[in-house]
Amino acid sequence: MVLLLLLSSTMSVTTTTQFPFFFSSSSLSNNNTLSCTPSFLGTSPISIRIYGSQVKLAKNNETHLRSIGSVKRIASLRSEASKETLSLTEELKEMSAVGNDSETLFDELRNKFLSFKKLKYLENLDHFQNLAQGQSPKFMVIACADSRVCPSNILGFQPGDAFIVRNVANLVPPFETGPSETNAGLEFAVNSLEVENILVIGHSCCGGIRALMSMQDEEHPSSFIKPWVLIGKKASLSTKAAAANLSFEQQCTHCEKESVNHSLLNLLTYPWVEEKVSKGMLSIHGGYYDFVNCTFEKWTLDYKGSSGGNGGDKHSIIDRQFWS
Ligand SMILES: [Zn+2]
Repeated sequence: MVLLLLLSSTMSVTTTTQFPFFFSSSSLSNNNTLSCTPSFLGTSPISIRIYGSQVKLAKNNETHLRSIGSVKRIASLRSEASKETLSLTEELKEMSAVGNDSETLFDELRNKFLSFKKLKYLENLDHFQNLAQGQSPKFMVIACADSRVCPSNILGFQPGDAFIVRNVANLVPPFETGPSETNAGLEFAVNSLEVENILVIGHSCCGGIRALMSMQDEEHPSSFIKPWVLIGKKASLSTKAAAANLSFEQQCTHCEKESVNHSLLNLLTYPWVEEKVSKGMLSIHGGYYDFVNCTFEKWTLDYKGSSGGNGGDKHSIIDRQFWS
């Protein structure tokens, strides 16, 4: 089954593609049109106790008690807010009068913070006071640390919307590799915050993927970066097998997406993720931000559970969308 993956400027294209997909070498052309050939990678879920609901219940009780105590503080803040807005307005006027030449980087940050406080925080005081009592984000986002791909900036996440972990090359290590800051965040988001969606975002011109694709087999990693990006080794191997006749740049672009799909599979190696996904309590999605052309691809992993679907295929891609 061969499907066209990269589409023209279509807003909402829904396809079903077996997962994961590896591109055949002949299926990538210079006009950025890719076709795919399905393949399969298995997972071995491990069973451990799910404790997320207990944690959330305890958190909610605690939040209720704290809310009662904070009513007076909120009222006090609200009465001060109008005065503070006027004060900040004057301060921002003074800052803009000083001009940019004399600003240091931290002057800029201070100005931006005070602008945020005046225009967003104080204008939406109830919302931010509610957030002060606790968070209940709908998304966990795993994105690259690259300064050009800030998820809140490009997707409009506001405070409280998304629990975000950023690392080099937006990789999700498999369960068996042990603790890292990424899977610590994953555990908290899934079991304590009970997010409903995990979105892994890859991007164009990723230096981490380029480092991964540049590594030689005989190379012994001596830096912190190389052992980390080796988490994506399966993606680099499948890319080199499928796209051997393409340029290195094209292979990197291919691997940027392929590694997202491997990260989605790695998410399912965490027993508490696999269980929630198979029960329909959690959805996992891939994304790809091309900042050269400013486009965004989004797709969702359909997981049939450890027993597999009717045809024996555990994974497929659904609800693929291309935003341009
Ligand atoms: Zn990157």
